[in-house]
Amino acid sequence: MSYEPCRATGIAPRDLRFQEAVAMHEHADLVVVGAGTVGGWLSVFAREAGCERVLVVDQGMAGYGSSIRAAGMVRTQGGTPTAVHLGQETVAFYAGQHERYGIDSGFRSLGYAILAFGDDDRQAAAARLAMQAAEGLPSRWVEPAELAALAPHIDVERLTGATFCALDGAIDPPRNVTAYMTVMHRLGVDVRERTRVTGLVLDGTRVRGVETDRGPIMADRVVLAGGYGQGRLARLAGVEVPVGAVRHTVAVTSPLPSVAPDAVMGFDLAAGLYWRPEEDGLLFGWSNPDEAPGEAQGVDWAFAERMRLRLGELVPAAAGAGLRRIWAATIDYTPDHLPVVGPARTPAGEELEGLTLASAAGHGMMWGPAVSRIGADLALHGTTAVTDVSMLGVERFRPDGTSRLATDPIALPFPDRAAAVA
Ligand SMILES: Cc1cc2nc3c(=O)[nH]c(=O)nc-3n(C[C@H](O)[C@H](O)[C@H](O)COP(=O)(O)OP(=O)(O)OC[C@H]3O[C@@H](n4cnc5c(N)ncnc54)[C@H](O)[C@@H]3O)c2cc1C
Repeated sequence: MSYEPCRATGIAPRDLRFQEAVAMHEHADLVVVGAGTVGGWLSVFAREAGCERVLVVDQGMAGYGSSIRAAGMVRTQGGTPTAVHLGQETVAFYAGQHERYGIDSGFRSLGYAILAFGDDDRQAAAARLAMQAAEGLPSRWVEPAELAALAPHIDVERLTGATFCALDGAIDPPRNVTAYMTVMHRLGVDVRERTRVTGLVLDGTRVRGVETDRGPIMADRVVLAGGYGQGRLARLAGVEVPVGAVRHTVAVTSPLPSVAPDAVMGFDLAAGLYWRPEEDGLLFGWSNPDEAPGEAQGVDWAFAERMRLRLGELVPAAAGAGLRRIWAATIDYTPDHLPVVGPARTPAGEELEGLTLASAAGHGMMWGPAVSRIGADLALHGTTAVTDVSMLGVERFRPDGTSRLATDPIALPFPDRAAAVA
């Protein structure tokens, strides 16, 4: 076995001085890098599973990657069986959260209509519904007339119908950050904000800890939950993870008295536009199909105007409505829109023992708790009962970044090739 010197000390692990140096450093049973919703809930599940000293490190403030800026859409209507399982697990988690912790992420079931505009959409929906039914999901097809009754705010004139699932709903993302931070604090998870991980301490192919800009932290188990920065983070250990980053934008209209506060949520997949009720108006979010990957925080006002007009076509009450809030942020994604969760492996396929990857592929609100549960299970026990994870690891990607898994067709953002964050 080869030993790499600990960069922080410059001393090789076999050297006795290494042991002395290690003794002076901090120790944890598990270090989680990233205090977003994935790392946050993962640390909670690890503590609940009996892991004693759990330490979460974040280069910024907890939640201030993507997690606090999300739209909060939670959908069980996935396009693949794995996506359905992750959605079901997550909705069950949110539904039981208040009873379990006395604090919640604000989840409410509103029902979600994925709109169909022609025969092709209708056929694709039929195939999806059959797959979802086989997974036990109570989703169904609704004809335009029934949709008009369920969701009077949607103009059904040019629709052939929609798929609908009453289980789907929304959380409040800032409240979710408050919820996991509160539970972390209560369970004694140690959180280090404004602490950047700059390297991994490796003993051959075994992880021994992380190096940070405030000194090393030793741990035999490390989870990387770096959100859209996961590619850059994993590269510190020589692991290539095709997690990309791209702009995603959300806006909230001024109050719309004719739209019910519990109105059904809607998704115009082809346009990349979705909406849900928020603050007496509608929250709507989108990805631009032509947007080049990369980190982005600024609003593309021309495209925002196109989406505002599109919303007005589908929800006439929103036509001409003013905007109360708008924000753009960077969202994570993977080439097949499915999470990357599993052991870290080098491009040669060698497993880095003790190092686990966990990212939710741009679906951290609707799948985050499920991905966190899987990540904690794998990091602590090497196995999970949440779903079949045999194809969710980084090894499913070919050297060019494409996946061996079928892409989830019900997903945003659009770019199908991950551009690693520089
Ligand atoms: C505008 C917008 C709307 C969205 N809407 C939805 C939605 O409706 N539904 C849905 O399911 N998903 C939505 N998403 C996606 C969702 O927000 C993300 O998938 C989710 O937040 C990812 O969680 P995370 O914990 O993996 O990452 P993050 O929340 O980004 O957290 C990762 C953390 O890792 C830290 N980090 C990275 N590198 C290092 C390092 N070297 N050292 C220390 N710390 C590091 C970062 O500082 C960050 O805090 C949306 C995203 C955006 C941007």
